[in-house]
Amino acid sequence: MRAILIGEHGVQSANLIGGEWVRAAGGAGHQVTNPATDAVLAEIPSMGADETRQAIGSARDAWGGWRGRTAADRGALVGLLAGLMRRDADRLARLMTAEQGKPLAEAAGEIEYAASFLDWAGEEGKRLFGDMIPASDASKRILVLRQPVGVAAIITPWNFPSAMITRKLGPALAAGCTAVIKPSELTPLSAIAIGELAVEAGFPPGVVNIVTGDAATIGDAFFDDDRVRKLSFTGSTGVGQKLMAKGAKNLLRLSMELGGHAPFIVFEDADLDKAIAAAVSCKYRNAGQTCICANRFYVQDAIYDRFMSGFAEAVRALKVGEGTGEGVAIGPLINDKAVEKVEKHVADAREKGGRVLVGGERVNIDGLADRFYAPTLIDGMTPEMLLHTEETFGPVAAVRRFTTEDEVVAWANDSEFGLASYFFTRDASRLMRVAEALEYGIVGANDGGPSTAQAPFGGVKHSGFGREGGKYVMDEYTEYKYVSWAL
Ligand code: NAP
Repeated sequence: MRAILIGEHGVQSANLIGGEWVRAAGGAGHQVTNPATDAVLAEIPSMGADETRQAIGSARDAWGGWRGRTAADRGALVGLLAGLMRRDADRLARLMTAEQGKPLAEAAGEIEYAASFLDWAGEEGKRLFGDMIPASDASKRILVLRQPVGVAAIITPWNFPSAMITRKLGPALAAGCTAVIKPSELTPLSAIAIGELAVEAGFPPGVVNIVTGDAATIGDAFFDDDRVRKLSFTGSTGVGQKLMAKGAKNLLRLSMELGGHAPFIVFEDADLDKAIAAAVSCKYRNAGQTCICANRFYVQDAIYDRFMSGFAEAVRALKVGEGTGEGVAIGPLINDKAVEKVEKHVADAREKGGRVLVGGERVNIDGLADRFYAPTLIDGMTPEMLLHTEETFGPVAAVRRFTTEDEVVAWANDSEFGLASYFFTRDASRLMRVAEALEYGIVGANDGGPSTAQAPFGGVKHSGFGREGGKYVMDEYTEYKYVSWAL
């Protein structure tokens, strides 16, 4: 197996188990490629059930020592990992762009975002306060302790290869859990790079483990092993549903951060410039491959034409190209299947009367893979369109005209998903009314970028359950234990 060579420094082409860099039995491996160029970046191990069990065993063995450390001590190491990510931000961003495709500036933004979750969790671990509850019997005292759940399995998607890991790993470690991470096979290099930095930071062997390979094999090894006490999953709703069923066997504690289908509403009293800028960044970031990106736009009658003309102009200005290119805003889609899905949604919208105002086709770039799709704007969206019901996960915005507030709130809520939603208005009463009425875990009120380490990120309905970020995330990795103490 050869080493990965990206920039000046490579990263390991091995997995981290019990503090050692290991290969799969028999040397089984799979290639990681650049979605923009198809260049092979590395070959990494395809671990099986045995190696996954070893990783779980290492995490379990390390747990006693790790949970026995002070929260300040654990928090300092988690904070140190954040610092090392910032030190290496440029290298890590280049690695991410190479394996995932997003523009370099976005990748650098993700590294900072990822580090911010570590900072936050490292501090939050120091505030895992218990309680002393007045008892009904004068001879008793009731103490409530908060304790780490144990070994946490972490499964992450390819669209945010670093942040989806640290959003789970930071609070798990800060709470006193140990972890086994399974990143997406499409973007494992960012995960392995985090593992290298964890070793450098000085985490004891076995506290952080990383396994790559066939998802179902590794996933089943997690579900079959009762030493795993927590599984935090970020990915699609369909896979999340399957994993929930498997979790029943060991009554595994689960967090499910699943798909979204965000409505984006622009009321006639909105600040239009602000709404257009937010629509562009919210929709086209990561070429539309984000769980909280707007999928359905609703714009009120009186400002419809003005909004559409400004939005179209801004979309036309977005430059498509390899993520490392100067001024590039839209990189490649992750794989051929993703491009085909976008094509299917656009063809379906056309058939059902949608008018393509901008884009609507692949962009061919000399010397690059055929995986670039033009930023697209479609007028005349209807509820029958696939765009209106399924996550498109591509750079396509579709817009529908509305008349009343009640009507648009009902449309916005008419979805099985409930992750993020957005609306723009200058009316303070409406702002509170609509924020309360939207059946979503996250509401961007005049804000197209609500994600931050301080807030509880997560969804309702088919977008899952559990929260990441803020003080709330610590609940995901801790148990409440009460001690009834008779004097
Ligand atoms: P995915 O296909 O569900 O995969 C997510 C992760 O699960 C990957 O690591 C995948 O491994 C693994 N996996 C797949 N089948 C598995 C199985 N049977 N057992 C165990 N693990 C399994 O999702 P994706 O395409 O990577 O990511 C896009 C989806 O994630 C979108 O729906 C998006 O909305 C959602 N997402 C949600 C959030 C959120 O916070 N709510 C954030 C980001 C993304 P392999 O890739 O190696 O097959």
